Amino acid sequence: MNFFHYKDNELYCEDLSVAEIVKKTGTPVYIYSYKTLKRHFEVFDGAFKGLPHIVCYSCKANSNISIIAVFGRLGGGADIVSGGELFRASMAGIPPERIVYSGVGKTKEEIKDAVKSDILMINIESEAELNVISRIAEQMKKEIRVSIRVNPEIDPKTHPYITTGLKKNKFGIIWEDALRLYKDMAKNKYLLPIGVSSHIGSQILELSPFIEAVRSLKDMVYQLRDMGIGIRYLDIGGGLGITYKDETAPHPEEYAEAIKNELKDTGLTLILEPGRVLVGNSGIFVAEVIYVKKVSEKTFIIVDGAMNDLIRPSLYGAYHEISPVHRRHSKKIKVDVVGPICESGDFFAKDRVLPQLKEGELIAIHGAGAYGFSMSSNYNSRRRATEVLVSDDRYFIIRKRETKKDLIKGESIPEFLRV
Ligand code: PLP
Repeated sequence: MNFFHYKDNELYCEDLSVAEIVKKTGTPVYIYSYKTLKRHFEVFDGAFKGLPHIVCYSCKANSNISIIAVFGRLGGGADIVSGGELFRASMAGIPPERIVYSGVGKTKEEIKDAVKSDILMINIESEAELNVISRIAEQMKKEIRVSIRVNPEIDPKTHPYITTGLKKNKFGIIWEDALRLYKDMAKNKYLLPIGVSSHIGSQILELSPFIEAVRSLKDMVYQLRDMGIGIRYLDIGGGLGITYKDETAPHPEEYAEAIKNELKDTGLTLILEPGRVLVGNSGIFVAEVIYVKKVSEKTFIIVDGAMNDLIRPSLYGAYHEISPVHRRHSKKIKVDVVGPICESGDFFAKDRVLPQLKEGELIAIHGAGAYGFSMSSNYNSRRRATEVLVSDDRYFIIRKRETKKDLIKGESIPEFLRV
C-alpha cells in the first residue's frame, strides 16, 4: 500500500505531480511519501497492540534525519549500527531510551558515545566487544545496559548477502558461548544484561524463520531467568520482506500475530527493528533518459541516475519496477536501463519490456525508499541526488543535491604537488 498513483496517465506522489516536483528539483531525485511512511509505521506498530513493544526503526534503511524524525514523532525509536547513526537519531529527536545499538565492529569511541547518550541497550556481538565494554564501564564508573546478539543459526531463505543468522555469518554469538558470557556478566557490577537480541536477515518472505527464531530466543530467556538473570527485553531485529515484483510478503499483522502468540505472558518488552518494510515502498527514484542507444540486437536506455545512487540491482541483482512518469500508448520493447557509470554492472534493469522511451523522458524506479540513498556513493565523482519528502500537496527538500564543491570537501593538494 502506497500513495504513488497515476492520474490522467501522469505519476503522482500523494497530491503532487512527480513531473512538477522534478521541474523544481532536477534529476536524479528520490521522492518519499509522508503518508505512506506514516501508514506503514501505524500498521506495523498497531499490529503489536496488546504486547509491550518498541518499534526501533532501522536507520540504515534510509538514514535521512527527516525520515527518522517521521517515525520518532509517531512514537518509534531507532536501531543504530554506528556512531554516525547515533548522531542522526539524536538529531532527529529520538529519545535515547528508544535507541538500541547493534554492529560487529563498534569502536571504543562509538561505545563511549552510546554510553554517554544513555541509550536503551548495546547489543554485543562478540566476546572481544564485551571485554571492551566492560573496561569502558569500569573507567567511566557507569552501569551499561546490554544484550547479547545471539546467532540463532536459522536459515531465513533470502539472498546470501542479506542472511545474517547462520553459523558462517559474522554476526552475533552462538548460544553456548552467549550463555557463558551472560553468566560472566552477572558477576560484573557495571554490566546490566537486560535483553537478548537477534536479527536473522533481510527481505524475508516466510513467517517460519521468524517463528523459529522467536521460539529459540524465548527458551534462552527462560534459561537465563532460571539462572537469576532478569531479562526484560527481547529484540528480534528486522527483516520482514516487501513486494518488489510479484513476491507475496507476509502482512505485518500476520507477522505480529505469530510473534504475539509466542510471547504473550512472558513479561517481555519486544523490540522490533524494521527497516525495509517501513520505507521500501515509500520512495521512488526518478531519473531522466539522456540517450537511447541501439547496438545490434540491444537497446540501452541511458538515464542520469546510476549505481552510485541506487546500487541494489548491481549488488544483489535486485528487481525494481520501472515506469515512465508520463504514460503514453507506445509500443513496448525490450531494453536495458543503465546509468552513465563506467561499469557494466551499472544497470537498473536488464531485458525489461518497457514502453518505448525517448530522450528527455522521466522514469520512476519504484520501491527505492530502502537501501537506496543510504547506500549511495560518489563513485565516478557523481554528486549525490536530492531527496524530497511529499506530504499531501506540499513538498520539502530534505537533502539538497550535492555541489561540485561538496565532491572535494576535505581534500587538499600538498604543497609539493602544486603548480
Ligand atoms: N537490524 C539489524 C541488526 C540489521 O542488520 C538490519 C538490516 O540489515 C535491520 C535491523 C533491518 O532489516 P530490514 O530492513 O530487512 O527490516
